[in-house]
Amino acid sequence: MTRDAGLRQLDHLGCLDGADGHAPTEPLYGGLLERCARCGLVATRERPAFEYDERYFVGDDTGGYAFDSVFAQTYDAKRFDDELGRIEASGLHGSVLDVGCATGTFLRRALARGWRCTGVEIADYARQRVQGELGVPVVASLAELPDDERYDLVTLHHVLEHIHDPLGFLRDEIRPRVGGRLLVEVPNFASLGSRVHGPGWRDLRPDQHVVHYTPTTLARLVERAGFRVREVTTLAEPLWSLRGSLYTLGLLRGLVWAPSHGNGAANGARPTASPADVTDYRPPVGLKKAATELSRLAMAPLVAALDRAGLSERLVVEARL
Ligand SMILES: [Zn+2]
Repeated sequence: MTRDAGLRQLDHLGCLDGADGHAPTEPLYGGLLERCARCGLVATRERPAFEYDERYFVGDDTGGYAFDSVFAQTYDAKRFDDELGRIEASGLHGSVLDVGCATGTFLRRALARGWRCTGVEIADYARQRVQGELGVPVVASLAELPDDERYDLVTLHHVLEHIHDPLGFLRDEIRPRVGGRLLVEVPNFASLGSRVHGPGWRDLRPDQHVVHYTPTTLARLVERAGFRVREVTTLAEPLWSLRGSLYTLGLLRGLVWAPSHGNGAANGARPTASPADVTDYRPPVGLKKAATELSRLAMAPLVAALDRAGLSERLVVEARL
């Protein structure tokens, strides 16, 4: 992990309460993170500097963005089909700009559903590959888009947590592109998984993630950037599996033993195993399929309750101008 040594990230983020700086701040996880006691914004204490090169997209240690991982592709296709279904059911369809399109799975699903697609991807490898495979425009930065071009839907899936100045980015670069709706998805720092696993939570990734959002702080940030928040939701894994069932049950057990958020120092914490830590995927068949379906049905009320309580791992804010 590389860091811009000594550069405290919170110093470079405006306080959501409108004050000049965040004060006082409190350390979390032995000082790995810092939280503003006034507005609740949490950031990795020293700003991470991470290279999003080819290694991020190819191989076994990609953080979920491997082009050739059948699991990642299946998981994302389900996730994005569910999402596009919800959006279309609300009456929106047309042009979409996917910012940070990575392996292009969202654009691929949107294209199949008749959306006019444009992508933005800073990583050369991913940008060239998605453009070649899908035949849609993918630019390296928002500044390369025509000045007056707006899109019915602008999406940022797991992008904002990597951005050093998220307020300026949303307000000055994203807002002028939104013709209809904005959708932002990030890992939910207030999730049950984050609370139970603390510094070992799989989506903490302090080597890459600059800001760690909760439903409250993300909604406030989006509003400060000039949007009106339409909906704040948290969602569980899109692809149900026995492994996912065990993970969720493990969280409930962990809640009994380690109920309070922020316990423990970062030293020695190992990232937890996750349902997404496999690269191959075969849909379950036979008895395993029956058991998977049974566990999905049995746990559906619990999963829905976690979603409603804001405790699921994917945090989604939808907003409009
Ligand atoms: Zn603050």
